[in-house]
Amino acid sequence: MSVFEDIQSVDQQYVCHSYGRFPVAIKDGKNAVCHDFDGKRYIDFTSGIGVNSLGFCDSGWIKAVTEQLGRLQHISNLYYTEPCGQLAKMLCERTGLKKVFFANGGAEANEGAIKAARKYSFDRYGKGRDKILTLVNSFHGRTVTTLSATGQEVFHNYFFPFTEGFEHIPAGDFEALRSHSEGVCALMVELIQGEGGVIPVEPEYVKKAAEFCRENDILLIVDEVQTGVGRTGSLFCFEQYGIEPDIVTAAKGIGGGLPLAAVLFGERTENVFNPGDHATTFGGNPAICAGGVEIVNRLDKDFLNEVKKKGDYIRERVMKMPHVAGTSGMGLMIGIATQDGYKPADVVKSGISEGVLLLTAKTKVRLLPPLTITYEEIDEGLAALERALG
Ligand SMILES: *Cc1c(COP(=O)(O)O)cnc(C)c1O
Repeated sequence: MSVFEDIQSVDQQYVCHSYGRFPVAIKDGKNAVCHDFDGKRYIDFTSGIGVNSLGFCDSGWIKAVTEQLGRLQHISNLYYTEPCGQLAKMLCERTGLKKVFFANGGAEANEGAIKAARKYSFDRYGKGRDKILTLVNSFHGRTVTTLSATGQEVFHNYFFPFTEGFEHIPAGDFEALRSHSEGVCALMVELIQGEGGVIPVEPEYVKKAAEFCRENDILLIVDEVQTGVGRTGSLFCFEQYGIEPDIVTAAKGIGGGLPLAAVLFGERTENVFNPGDHATTFGGNPAICAGGVEIVNRLDKDFLNEVKKKGDYIRERVMKMPHVAGTSGMGLMIGIATQDGYKPADVVKSGISEGVLLLTAKTKVRLLPPLTITYEEIDEGLAALERALG
């Protein structure tokens, strides 16, 4: 048996079969390059689904995490630690939001946002004003509540009963928002639908929706689990939409590869949670937050401009490739529509043979490269992608 076959057979026997995996085991990596157990080299256009913001094994991030690990790895939320507050302060200063609750993943962050929205409304209006509107084709997570929030019918299966109080309205349809606003406490949106196929929501609609929400004391929750932390060329995507959300959630890229998520609260929501209202054992882990501080520090203006430039460069090159119908997304969140019956899943499979790791998102091929990817790595990955599309 090869090392890979050994790893695969143990995994297949003992790991829950809830994931379909590609027949590759990754052994090590540096920035946007990684290797399997046969020593084959891949360019990583996935960053572990938008997680490894600074690529594989960034030395500054490792130093930040391991120095904190060597001092104190965990103490619980019953005590103060330094990195937790540092990261919260940085996030607030950079976004204008006021307070941060730390969690462990995107679904959990969205659960926190949903609970906060309902409590905000309960505190002001009492019971019954608890409905949350989300968009058709959205994705908000895999817990029973965030599946309810997710606006895709395929996810509303098997696990009945789902959490009540969610309605899905079409993106871009302002009238639908207005006519569904009775008894609503919040509107929750992704600004670019990630899992839904890298589909940006129209800026005019978002602005109008934000105004309507403000006028009616409906909270605007922006799910930036995929778009946040530099991915689209600004620290958060909402900055490019000219809106001021009441709650923003982040996860994937904020921990750089370790589990970390954040719920950011604005002026209206900063004091909704009081001691005892919401909690999570691992939230704000000092070692992971120390890594988060390093990441947010690195995402300065120049770095974010580079993210935009690299994204534009990739889109321009991809448009010239065979069987490509179009591209979508912002910064280094890139969707590729294929033509001539080219299926995204087949392109991803060919990509593995050609030496590039790719993602799909519904009907599209999706690229979420590490934000630190170099032009050399981009060129090598694009050449492999072009062969995969050929
Ligand atoms: C990935 C994702 C989630 C779920 O995050 P998990 O960490 O898997 O729970 C939620 N919302 C969006 C927009 C996502 O992309």
